[in-house]
Amino acid sequence: MRAIDVHVHPQTQAYADASASFLPAAMKMFRGKFAARPVEEIVADFRRDDCVAMAIAWDSAAGTGDSVFANDALAALTRDYPDVFLPGWAMVDPWRGKAGLAEIEHAIRDLGLRGVKYQPPVQAFPPSDKHFYPIWDLLQDLGAAVLIHCGTTAIGAGEPGGLGIKLEYARPIPHLDSIAADFPKLNIIAAHPGWPWTEELIAVAIHKGNLSIDISGWGPKYLPASLKHDMQRRLQDKVMFGSDYPGWAPGQNCDEWEMEGFKPGIIDKLFRDNATRILGLGDALAKAEAARAAL
Ligand SMILES: [Zn+2]
Repeated sequence: MRAIDVHVHPQTQAYADASASFLPAAMKMFRGKFAARPVEEIVADFRRDDCVAMAIAWDSAAGTGDSVFANDALAALTRDYPDVFLPGWAMVDPWRGKAGLAEIEHAIRDLGLRGVKYQPPVQAFPPSDKHFYPIWDLLQDLGAAVLIHCGTTAIGAGEPGGLGIKLEYARPIPHLDSIAADFPKLNIIAAHPGWPWTEELIAVAIHKGNLSIDISGWGPKYLPASLKHDMQRRLQDKVMFGSDYPGWAPGQNCDEWEMEGFKPGIIDKLFRDNATRILGLGDALAKAEAARAAL
């Protein structure tokens, strides 16, 4: 298996419906790549590219009024295609209060999902606000990981008012730094290089042992040079591969990273080893390999 892709949007019609209020703008930005497709085609992409996927549910209902791509539907992907989908990322709108906390418990305990993904600008919430601390407290207790969008977002880009989306909620300091400090056993993965606050994100990742980075959504050509530098040095054990599929095909993204000329071993850490260790994926990977062998 070539790589673990920790950041995948399974863009079926139901998924597209759950992001209906901003999908047209995203489609413009990604030149049509976010068009809905049958799940079999998505599975075929990952089999062709020899990658396994940690897919993400979608729930920004409270902020947008859209439908939800439910955590149960996400868990069904792993059940139906165990050779491709590792237990992935639930999504629970942070504004759902007590019902949201119950849904988080359901997603982790009953469905076996690995963690919960947040998109603070789209979900319109400041993650370090004490109002949301019960969420981080619960996730820490459950031993679940958090995948949290960091830096600017393509969603709303170029639209009047950026569709009302506020980028500040995706800033590493204070948000990720405060959560990491106040919940030291919470396993936090910052999604994307955090641009234009990449230096802040690097500082937080170096300073906080419980925070790592996924480099999804940015080809190596565009990834800020400071992070490209540190992912081969100080952060070589803390950066993991993600494509942000379907914006990028995982295989093509891997090809581009391999052409960067990194020292031997760095690519292995980036593609597989860091995610396996940081997210505790050993058993899940063994199951996927066994399912693959049985195909
Ligand atoms: Zn994404």
